[in-house]
Amino acid sequence: MDWIEEELDGLADASIKRSLRTYSAVSDSAGRMMRGDNMLLNLSSNDYLGLARHPAIIEAMREALLTEGAGSGASRLVTGNRLPYSRLEEELADWQSCEAGLVFANGYMANSGVISGLVNRGDVVFSDQLNHASIVDGVILSRAEHARYRHNDMEHLRALLTKFRHKRRKLIVTDAIFSMDGDAAPLRELAAIKREYGAMLMVDEAHSGGIYGRRGEGLCHELGIQDDVDIHMGTFSKSFGIYGAYICGSRTLIQWLVNKARPLIYSTALPPSIVAGISKAMDLVQTDHWRRERLYEASRLFRSLLRAAGFTIDDGDSPIIPVIVGDNDIALRFSSALEEKGIAAAAIRPPTVPDGTARIRFSLSAVHTVQELTDAASHIRIIGQQLGVLVRP
Ligand code: PMP
Repeated sequence: MDWIEEELDGLADASIKRSLRTYSAVSDSAGRMMRGDNMLLNLSSNDYLGLARHPAIIEAMREALLTEGAGSGASRLVTGNRLPYSRLEEELADWQSCEAGLVFANGYMANSGVISGLVNRGDVVFSDQLNHASIVDGVILSRAEHARYRHNDMEHLRALLTKFRHKRRKLIVTDAIFSMDGDAAPLRELAAIKREYGAMLMVDEAHSGGIYGRRGEGLCHELGIQDDVDIHMGTFSKSFGIYGAYICGSRTLIQWLVNKARPLIYSTALPPSIVAGISKAMDLVQTDHWRRERLYEASRLFRSLLRAAGFTIDDGDSPIIPVIVGDNDIALRFSSALEEKGIAAAAIRPPTVPDGTARIRFSLSAVHTVQELTDAASHIRIIGQQLGVLVRP
């Protein structure tokens, strides 16, 4: 096993070794957490709507815990499919305006299970180069041809669709909002291309669910192209503040996945308390519009503060805002310096992002205040100058 240590040393030398850090919650503050004795403003959480500590969700989970017990005891197809599941899946289908919905244990299992359940040898998946790792792994598991198109490059996608036109089944898959860049996929164009080439379209709304759409359904609904999407995927771990994931689509699709999605078939069902908590969160996601409004305002404010400080920041209102520094070691130093100022913001390095694009990925929440964001931006500016990331004085 000596090779492992050598390889780990290699990762450390390249500033890409990862290690776990431990945080604890601050009971009265959703936007903060503790590391040891240090209170940190959490600018690296996906709890976008600030629901993770919502008392009504916690109460729903507690009630289900007491009535249904700690675990589901089996996979869904055996005896783990408890009442909260059927309730949630009905709500899910209604929320997404689809015939049916299916809950998965998490987004990784949903993506990997659905893609590998839908396509096989002889098929082809057209996947954006910046799609999430769970999509990449699903394609690899499926054994289908992996046709990766350059990020959001529709001309490249068309060229690949033409090249692989002889393949049996064609699946186009994209994140709606890209997890490390916070930019959006050209969903209207993708919907048109999918029709033109007779392909299936799958959209991962992990970072757009709860945030866009009249009832927080996601970016596809916001843009009105939801009916062109054959496979709607989203998570309950981000805007919903809990854990889990879903697929929505036609009844036939869901029946197929119940038969073919291996992570659903061969893994224990989520604890009923989690599923009950998701149902409560779904009520809040649909009705607490102010959380979305607050999040857009926070995103616009933070983007403008960072831009005024001299960073290159894209337009937009998604809560994911990267400051790209390029070098892995600088990203690590940036993140440590922020922590010394009471800000938790993760350094994201390859292979999570392409080589030479290491970054601090800020992600905002509806619970962050204007004061917190203004103070944070000022620390970010000073540290950016100290590290030479910002050349402007
Ligand atoms: N898709 C995307 C775009 C993601 O960013 C993530 C997780 N960060 C996932 C899927 C996986 O979701 P989960 O964390 O529920 O496994």
